[in-house]
Amino acid sequence: MRVVFATAELAPFVKVGGLGDAAAGLVSELRVLDADVEVVLPDYGILDLRVKEEIDLDVPEWAGPAIARSGSLDGFSDVTLVQAPRLERSHPYVDGDGRGWVDNDVRFMSFSAAVAALVRSDPPDVLHLNDWHTAATLGLMEAPPPSVLTIHNLAYQGTSDGGWLVAFNRRFEAFEWYGGMNPLTGAIALADKVVTVSPTFAREVLQPRGGFGVHDALAARGGDFLGILNGIDTQVWDPATDPSLSTHYDESTVSRKRAIGRLLAAEVGWGPSSEPIIGMVTRLTEQKGVDLALDVASSLGSMGARMILLGSGDRSLAAAAGRMAADSSERFVFREGYDEALAHRIFAGSDLFLMPSRFEPAGLAQMQAMRYGTIPVVTDVGGLHDTVIDADYDPENGTGFVAAEVTSASVADALSRAIRAWRSTRRRGAIRRRGMSRDWSWRRPAGKYLDLYEEIRLPR
Ligand code: ADP
Repeated sequence: MRVVFATAELAPFVKVGGLGDAAAGLVSELRVLDADVEVVLPDYGILDLRVKEEIDLDVPEWAGPAIARSGSLDGFSDVTLVQAPRLERSHPYVDGDGRGWVDNDVRFMSFSAAVAALVRSDPPDVLHLNDWHTAATLGLMEAPPPSVLTIHNLAYQGTSDGGWLVAFNRRFEAFEWYGGMNPLTGAIALADKVVTVSPTFAREVLQPRGGFGVHDALAARGGDFLGILNGIDTQVWDPATDPSLSTHYDESTVSRKRAIGRLLAAEVGWGPSSEPIIGMVTRLTEQKGVDLALDVASSLGSMGARMILLGSGDRSLAAAAGRMAADSSERFVFREGYDEALAHRIFAGSDLFLMPSRFEPAGLAQMQAMRYGTIPVVTDVGGLHDTVIDADYDPENGTGFVAAEVTSASVADALSRAIRAWRSTRRRGAIRRRGMSRDWSWRRPAGKYLDLYEEIRLPR
């Protein structure tokens, strides 16, 4: 099975968000399953490629000159970097002020034209596209190979000027979007299979309220639109070997978390206490329900718990978290910033992990928490619904606690139930063990993608 996998990010080499992690995790596991996967990535001018082959690509004038250089990166083989005008930048998407590059439309149209040229020159069994940056590819080829589009982030669609439609020749109707051009809706219409990153999110986005304006386009694909739950990198996220931790543990030695929790408490200036620590590691955005978490945090005293929030993003949410930390530092600590080592210590040292998202395509953090024996408290949306089983409603299988509604009251209720369960050594142990023993790796998702590839590939 030969697959060309086009993506704008590949962790750890180019990583802005979840797309980079998902691309790396999925490709590595597909290779374990013996798929021959070539990753095609824009050459942003920041990677050191050991080049084996270089070819000029036959692209339209507006996209060229374009060159494909194939080789390997440190620890990652079979990568092709596409050089085209304007792709080389200090950041894949945004300038120093965090604003999207004004020519992102040309940049990713050119990348898509280069992917089309590459695929035309040596057609694979399957072309796998990811997010809007690669989506135009299907409109820039007369006869694309069987194709899969994965939508990691439906909020970004790459919509731009309708003048681009002339680039698509026969397939322009698919890309026409209210007088403009939408690469994502084009690929939603044209790909053989359209995937998003959890089964529940795939159902939610069919509703006008959760569909980011494209629910009809997705619904039109019927059974060819589906959800496959993301995995996590179980080597990076492994409490038995994690280099950020001074004490290591696994399922059978999970009680060692207490020692890590004590160190974490001391690190943030807390004295010894038998109260549980609630951790939260997140982007500070409305999506992640940080405001709900802060509402709930005002009752930490009556709940008998302490909370550590690590996050960066929205200024007003950061200011609100800062105020709460100043008012009740003995129970609530806020660390502003993006800090991977501290994130690992919070996942390991906390007893509970709070993630009250308003919507959640897949969510990685709740899986990381369960891998670390930290009991998740989540809302009942998207990938959270697919990964966390409420231990009050299903005592035999429960892995966490689920707020039925996205409200402060419902989140507070789930958190209180979690604290009650945590106080029982027996329930705490059982819930933790179930979360830790589940396979959160990319093995199962990669198998599902491979089945999808088999379903659409043409007979030889
Ligand atoms: P999203 O991709 O929507 O931000 P996910 O839960 O899917 O949410 O993935 C977020 C990832 O980023 C997780 O691995 C989480 O641990 C990490 N993360 C989020 N915020 C921070 C932070 N402030 N510092 C360190 N890691 C963070």
